[in-house]
Order: sequence, then structure tokens, then C-alpha cells
Amino acid sequence: MSNPQDLPDLAISVRGLSKSYKGSTMKRPALDAIDLDIPRGSFFGLLGPNGAGKSTFINILAGLVLKSSGTAAIWGADIDSDTRRARSAIGVVPQELNIDPFFTAREALDFQAGMYGVPRAERRTAEILEAVHLTEKADSYARTLSGGMRRRLLVAKSLAHNPPVLVLDEPTAGVDVELRHQLWSYIRELNTAGVTVVLTTHYLEEAEELCDRIAIINHGKLVACDSTKALVARLDKKSLTINIGEDIPEIPEALAKYDVEILPFHRLAIRYQPSQTQVAEVLAAVQTAGLTIHDLSTEESDLEDLFLHITGGGGF
Ligand code: ADP
Repeated sequence: MSNPQDLPDLAISVRGLSKSYKGSTMKRPALDAIDLDIPRGSFFGLLGPNGAGKSTFINILAGLVLKSSGTAAIWGADIDSDTRRARSAIGVVPQELNIDPFFTAREALDFQAGMYGVPRAERRTAEILEAVHLTEKADSYARTLSGGMRRRLLVAKSLAHNPPVLVLDEPTAGVDVELRHQLWSYIRELNTAGVTVVLTTHYLEEAEELCDRIAIINHGKLVACDSTKALVARLDKKSLTINIGEDIPEIPEALAKYDVEILPFHRLAIRYQPSQTQVAEVLAAVQTAGLTIHDLSTEESDLEDLFLHITGGGGF
């Protein structure tokens, strides 16, 4: 790779990116004035419910869909005025398993590299096949590969021209757990080696585990974009429900500093921030209030709650 000083700070930068599909019966655009920066080197998650506009966003970057307005740059190259450079800076793993069945795995990679003008000496066909565990299948026709192998071949193909930015559109949908882990560990390695990775996923846990930054799109609009840590910190809430022995007409003084709700059937819901308050402290306050604890349960919010909150229950 070149000198870090020469590299762009942003792997992807879009401004006012909009898309309305011609002939679409939808009232609102598929993408509505998206501003988004993806820092070089990040592992970036693009989340959103079905129909949110994630594929449209990715397909515009990949040159498969024409935007209606706005600008987009990949690795500092504008997709309109510097198309060739923008195109060669990005590798996209599409959702569909669109592989030419009459190519062998090795041929598919060679063909892809050739399309991007990568000289033979600079091709890493064997290395990439090895990385996705397809060396043994290098000379097998794609039509003879299993679904999981085809998906790995798609990842391999997207890497054939050594792009600094790798975009994966729902890469593990329908992929078994073991393969998913294999894929992720390889993609993590790529990221550690400096490749910027952008992925769309339905698996919030996966995004939480892998991505250092997360953007959420809903109805074509960007509704959140932050570091994963900051997003998860917004979820710093726990709820403790206690069954008590006493009837209480009002919230006791000892519990006044918490967010307390009196529920029917001798129950209290106490919400607190686990980063600030220990559960033992809350329980001690309940005892100070002179209440007898019969039973208790806790509930923690996760990224899914945040997602539902932000997207207004859009759900997956
Ligand atoms: P996601 O990838 O988040 O599921 P998409 O980008 O596929 O969302 O779709 C965003 C919206 O654009 C959806 O309402 C979808 O129906 C619409 N859409 C996507 N592709 C087309 C197309 N080729 N023609 C018309 N409408 C489309």
C-alpha cells in the first residue's frame, strides 16, 4: 500500500445522495438526501429494515444504479467525474449468488482481475482462494459448488482487483453459523490489514460485534450514525421489576432518586443506568424504604431496542 499520508481520510463520502426509481409507485424516494462519511480503515455497518434503501445506496456506489442527485466519492474519486478510479477502489459482494456456472473458481477470479486490468504478475488468485478456503475447488466449475462455497467465491471475486474498500450486502444471509464465522474472521483480517469494510446486515448482534461505526437508514433517510460504542452507550438502561409484600400508595422517599413506576399486583419497576448505579444499591434502597422483596427480574435494552426506538418499530 502507498504512504499513509497519501491516502484519503474518508473511504467513502456522500452528500445529498438521493434516488427515486422511475416508474416506482412509491411516494417517497428510495434514498433521501443522505450525507455520510465512512472513515478509511473502519469496519462500518449499514443497518435498516427491509426496503430502507441499503441496497440502493450500495448499488449507486458500485455503479449498478444511477443516483437521482447528490455526490459520492470513493477513495477520494468522484463517481461521476472520476468513475474509473472510483470503480477500481471498491469491491462489492452482492446479495444474489450471481456466479457464471461455466467458469471454474480460478477462472472466475482471473476473469474479474482481468476486467479491472490487473496485470498477471499482480494477481493474487491463489492467495485469495486459499483465504476463503476454496483452494481445493480452484478447478471446479461454479455450478458444482455448494451455496456456501458460492458465497465464498463471491467474496473472493470482489477482492480480485485488490480494492481498498470492500462492501458486503447482507453477506451472511442464509449462510450457516460455521461459515459465517469463517467469513468474518477472514474479513476481520482484511480490515486489520487496512481494508475498509462496509456491510449491511440484518443481524444487529453481528453489527455490534464487528463494526466500529454504525449508520441506521430508515425510509431512505439516515437516522443515526455513530461509533458502535456511543450507540450502545445510549442503551445504558436497565429495568428492575420487584414483587413486594406491601401496598404502597406512593413512591417511598428512599427510592425518589430513581425512575420508579408503581405497577399493579404489588410490583415496582425501577429503571436505572448500569454504568452509574449498581443493582445492589437499588436493592439496598428498596430495603431502606421498608419494603419486602418477594421476587425480582431484570431487563436490559440492546441494540435491537435502540433500532426499534429509532425507526419507530420498523422491525426486521
Ligand atoms: P434495502 O436494501 O434496505 O432492503 P432497497 O434499496 O432494496 O432497500 O429498496 C429501497 C426502496 O426502493 C424500496 O421501497 C424498494 O421497493 C425500492 N426499489 C428498490 N429497487 C427498485 C427498482 N429497481 N425499481 C423500483 N423500486 C425499487
